Amino acid sequence: GLVEGPGGLGQGGLAATLRDDGQEVEGSYEEFGYNAQLSDRISLDRSIPDYRPRKCRQMTYARDLPQVSVVFIFVNEALSVILRSVHSVVNHTPSRLLKEVILVDDNSDNVELKFNLDQYVNKRYPGLVKIVRNSRREGLIRARLQGWKAATAPVVGFFDAHVEFNTGGAPPTGVAERRRLTIPSADKDLVQTQLSAVAGRSGLMPTSLPPRTPAMIGCSFVVDREYFGDIGLLDPGMEVYGGENVELGMRVWQCGGSMEVLPCSRVAHIERTRKPYNNDIDYYAKRNALRAAEVWMDDFKSHVYMAWNIPMTNPGVDFGDVSERLALRQKLKCRSFKWYLENVYPEMRTYNNTLTYGEVRNSKASGYCLDQGAEDDDRAILYPCHGMSSQLVRYSADGLLQLGPLGSTAFLPDSKCLVDDGRGRTPTLKKCEDVARPAQRLGDFTQSGPIVSRATGRCLEVEMSKDANFGLRLVVQRCSGQKWMIRNWIKHSQH
Ligand code: UDP
Ligand code: MN
Repeated sequence: GLVEGPGGLGQGGLAATLRDDGQEVEGSYEEFGYNAQLSDRISLDRSIPDYRPRKCRQMTYARDLPQVSVVFIFVNEALSVILRSVHSVVNHTPSRLLKEVILVDDNSDNVELKFNLDQYVNKRYPGLVKIVRNSRREGLIRARLQGWKAATAPVVGFFDAHVEFNTGGAPPTGVAERRRLTIPSADKDLVQTQLSAVAGRSGLMPTSLPPRTPAMIGCSFVVDREYFGDIGLLDPGMEVYGGENVELGMRVWQCGGSMEVLPCSRVAHIERTRKPYNNDIDYYAKRNALRAAEVWMDDFKSHVYMAWNIPMTNPGVDFGDVSERLALRQKLKCRSFKWYLENVYPEMRTYNNTLTYGEVRNSKASGYCLDQGAEDDDRAILYPCHGMSSQLVRYSADGLLQLGPLGSTAFLPDSKCLVDDGRGRTPTLKKCEDVARPAQRLGDFTQSGPIVSRATGRCLEVEMSKDANFGLRLVVQRCSGQKWMIRNWIKHSQH
């Protein structure tokens, strides 16, 4: 059964509490995307073991650290979860360093978060906690800006309102330079922290690796208040959710600052099973990503369009007006995205020789698309079109036809390329780097034309076959004049 009690750690986290039989325990996942009832039963002041690497334990605070304002933003979070964020930051930050806690209520509906919250914090932490209430829903980007406006300390830390600070997690840690934005390492939630400690992984935390990071995964960070204003805060044209963490990374670096993860400063964060505030998160994440790409990525912005399978002309996504952000980039005399790639994010895979991208259809099989198929068998298939990652096809100037999601960094394997090895009738998928002989590439391809292998002269075609899935088999054979269509064409900016 489930072992949870005040101060205790159970088997599942707050985001995914499972019984022994793997069933989710009843709770308000629906309402919050995490188990609020469980949170209600856990002490707001529980003490948890210090999971940081051993060398962090000797760390002390420098004498002259500046004070910090800690901003928590929330919409319709469980009261006990918000309060644990507040309690834990107060409990783990030296009081001389914590100037104030600012709670930004992004127009929650939940009545408990109005009077009850006010009354609680005023009584428990008189004078320390400010509450800012938005009169309409601003989304998590502009909600942070409301918090920044209310902040008065020289340094500001921004956090979700479902976090838990631990020893060493105090936000002032590591703030040393004005142009350096710091990020505590995020632990998924405390129970997972415990598991990784048991597995010995936290002992291997990369304290010796360079802590610099090209962007943030979530959006928790600590920054000099004035510097953050000078570099343009967060993009107020971003709506609801997503993209701001990456935009800030590109901007900070390209405009002369830096972003670093602090391995000795760890904050636990509840990963939700769902986003309770919006059913269309993906749309907004996509829209915000396009804003960031249009302003900061120069000719590399095509990568964002490719990743989301959005056409570059008539994208069908209204990303709004970015002229003020472009003016900001000019004013700050920021560097190019190419500089950022070379100096900050050399691991990123780039695909600048792409000619076309998106789903590929055959005129003989309407409604079906080329698809990378099962992960491990290296056989491409035809599958009903859905336009998601397994059907993203990239056709490059050097004649490669790559199927599946584009690899993000050199640390992870890339998706594979379709080849005619000349040996049977079945095309296979191979690591693109290994398709050394251009002749093997299945890549002579024009819109509404055949896909031909230069070596064998054979074509990629669709064969009707009773024993294939959906009655359709992908083959390489003597060209019979079948036509293929690919969805999107790369558009280069004019210079
Ligand atoms: N939030 C907000 N307004 C919104 C949506 C979210 O203030 O319209 C708050 C939310 O309560 C949370 C933070 O923004 O404290 C980040 O949201 P979430 O945890 O869903 O995002 P993630 O953890 O994926 O970054
Ligand atoms: Mn969150």
